[in-house]
Amino acid sequence: MSILEVKELKAYYSTEKYGHIYRVRAVDGVSFQVHKNEIYGIAGESGCGKSTLLKAVSGLIKPPLEILEGEVAYNFDDKILDILALKEDKQRRQVRGVRISHIPQGSMSVLNPVRRIKKSFEDIVDAHQKIKDRTCFDKMVKTHLEALGLDWSVMHAFPHQLSGGMRQRITIALATILKPDIIFADEPTTALDVIVQRGVVQLIKQIKKEQQNTLIMVTHDLAIHANLCDRLAIMYAGKIVEEADVDIIFNQPKHPYTLMLLKSLPTIGDKSIRASAPGAPPSLIHVPSGCRFHPRCPEATERCRKETPELIQVGEGHRVACFLEEGSK
Ligand code: SF4
Repeated sequence: MSILEVKELKAYYSTEKYGHIYRVRAVDGVSFQVHKNEIYGIAGESGCGKSTLLKAVSGLIKPPLEILEGEVAYNFDDKILDILALKEDKQRRQVRGVRISHIPQGSMSVLNPVRRIKKSFEDIVDAHQKIKDRTCFDKMVKTHLEALGLDWSVMHAFPHQLSGGMRQRITIALATILKPDIIFADEPTTALDVIVQRGVVQLIKQIKKEQQNTLIMVTHDLAIHANLCDRLAIMYAGKIVEEADVDIIFNQPKHPYTLMLLKSLPTIGDKSIRASAPGAPPSLIHVPSGCRFHPRCPEATERCRKETPELIQVGEGHRVACFLEEGSK
């Protein structure tokens, strides 16, 4: 059963320069479904639109970001919720925190540097639940912190008194205190050292298992996707170019861009120099014609420069946007 269905979503940033309006086509016609209780990963190089996709889908839409087209429908307890139809200020905020939660990039964008951690928990809980008795609030937060291996003493600290890893764990605790149905995690391990990264990944796995929520994980780090996700979508220049079970993406990739990303990964025991992905992602203001990957693709033909490949089914649960896969099913 799908908990989230996104259809033909287009989310652009509008910028003005010398009186001319430019549109950054960060998400340009994206469709996918997320099943209940799965971990769905979104990968791609920086600037491919994956964080914008996450913002648009979770209803965090503020100018200059705007939705041009598309549908984002959640299925909560057999009731369909069209998040794009909700009014920003009140209605979307009511859904966020309880139904939908967000672990953003960088803990300092969540934690107020001049307030103690406890105030951040009070803000989130008080916005959604009427807890008159503060001992009930303390008990609820203490139980949650202990389940995540955090000590109650952190509640009295200011963010700067804690390490980066501890702050990120608190950010995750804040995002999950109300047991949301679906959690969006945007590069939750960025700027953490590998040991702390491992702890954060294990913590996310543990919460998912205990709370039985659905997780959408956005990161450029393919190792984290391999470790955590059930299915994976690869994004390039505002579009999904390949989607499949994680095992298929890593063992039988089809799209030349996915192959390029995988070739650049280090392998244990292989001491040869890894090839970095040649070229750079295109500008999302002036996107290449036809297949957006054609300027970097070793397989590109004349047709690729003129026509845009559709995301087609090439196997069970495996979709690819490349002309080379036409007729492969
Ligand atoms: Fe390469 Fe053409 Fe396939 Fe695009 S459609 S990935 S340019 S072969």
